[in-house]
Amino acid sequence: MGFIKKMEIEYSEFEVGREAGKKVQEIDEESVQCVICTDYIKYFAIPETCNHNLICWNCVLKQRLKLNQTACSMCKEESNRVLITTDKTQTIVKWDSRMIEEVTNGIVFSNP
Ligand SMILES: [Zn+2]
Ligand SMILES: [Zn+2]
Repeated sequence: MGFIKKMEIEYSEFEVGREAGKKVQEIDEESVQCVICTDYIKYFAIPETCNHNLICWNCVLKQRLKLNQTACSMCKEESNRVLITTDKTQTIVKWDSRMIEEVTNGIVFSNP
């Protein structure tokens, strides 16, 4: 989605009123691009220590499983675990341990 088109949509949502805040956030979520592959992120991969949420799960899985890298690509901080989730505001700390499932190599999926 082009920047101007996005702004138009955000503005029209804004005009609807305060309820629009939720809508704008939804549009934002759809349009977040991964800083590594530039794909629009559907599943966020959020490291436990820094909680950066601008990298998609494809890139993080590749780093962890193929390259054996556990440092965040944005801040270089090491994380033992990374949360895979559709909600970019989530963190591992926020989740109750019963609601997350560790699969392998510190990769944790949030149960929907
Ligand atoms: Zn990516
Ligand atoms: Zn980071």
